[in-house]
Amino acid sequence: MLVVVVAVLFGEHDRLVSTPFGMLHRFLLGGWYDLVVHASQKIMGKTCGAGLRAVEEEACGRPNPLLQFLYLGLVLGGFHVANVYVLPDLVAEDTGALALASVLPETANPFHPETASWALPSLVSIGLLLFCMASFGDPGVLTEANCAVKRKEYVGDGVVFPVDDKHCRTCALRRPARSKHCSVCGRCVLRFDHHCPWVNNCVGERNLMSFLAFLLVHFALCAFVCSITALHLGARFSATHSGAGYGGLSASARALVWLHFCFARHPIESVCVVMTGVLALMLGAFFAYHARLACLNLTTNEMFKWEQVERWEEEEQKNSGGGRGRRTWAGCASDAWDSATFRGRARRNMYDVGCAGNLAEIFLGRPKRRGRR
Ligand SMILES: [Zn+2]
Ligand SMILES: [Zn+2]
Repeated sequence: MLVVVVAVLFGEHDRLVSTPFGMLHRFLLGGWYDLVVHASQKIMGKTCGAGLRAVEEEACGRPNPLLQFLYLGLVLGGFHVANVYVLPDLVAEDTGALALASVLPETANPFHPETASWALPSLVSIGLLLFCMASFGDPGVLTEANCAVKRKEYVGDGVVFPVDDKHCRTCALRRPARSKHCSVCGRCVLRFDHHCPWVNNCVGERNLMSFLAFLLVHFALCAFVCSITALHLGARFSATHSGAGYGGLSASARALVWLHFCFARHPIESVCVVMTGVLALMLGAFFAYHARLACLNLTTNEMFKWEQVERWEEEEQKNSGGGRGRRTWAGCASDAWDSATFRGRARRNMYDVGCAGNLAEIFLGRPKRRGRR
């Protein structure tokens, strides 16, 4: 599972791109579907392949609630499992609540059964509310009414955005810097970050705050469910396997007994631990990446643009005989972990007004700085 998480998050990095992690990354993020299409074409003919490509276009190229339903299924299903299989059996001695008892009062101890019984529904409710806000809230759509004002707020830096506003032929509007036309939704969005299929909405100027909160709360929810379920399983295992018979087994035999206990006797709780653990790692990494971008007043879209600019600069340097030039960085997500690249881009990013100012812009909706030309 850890291999899958590493492959998904870092497989695009140029140090991993040609390793098995890179191959697994490409397979998981679309390669498997190409294989299905290829195999279907061979077996059932070209019409089948074309049909599958049409399904892909419908599912990924147009707004649709497919992943929203999947999200609701996962959250409500996970909540049901925790409610039916974990919470009723929790006792303070089992869950590790005692370890925190000397530090935290009972009501603030998340592992105490009584606290868990209200903390879990609260986290799920807040998560669903944030999901609705990120899904159905206005991401900051560019309209005829706000176009003139926004063009004054967002001026081009002359590097990743031209100083003169671009004209969007689809929306028939002059588009200010930092905005982008979303090909899935068919509209221009201010301070465009990316289109998120999980919320079936663009993430932009007006819903970035709810999107960040959505990621953080779901990270907390998954980590919490994973922890209490794992502690509960561990305690149940210790209670039934503490005899001398188990103690005398070899390490590999103990591992087999443990696996049998988890996946044969408690399969639902075990799958819940694995799934929420993987999701917590991914959501945590995704939140950290977006939080870092927010602190630097950069967007995911701009990270791609900076990557392009750096490639062009490297090419130019090579062509002018400047030697190897600066190295290129493949993969926006992987760049989050490369401090040198991040700092380099932040230094050249004219929209950066310092961490506090950048966060105020997102969370307090403070009027945008006009930028410098
Ligand atoms: Zn447009
Ligand atoms: Zn969109």
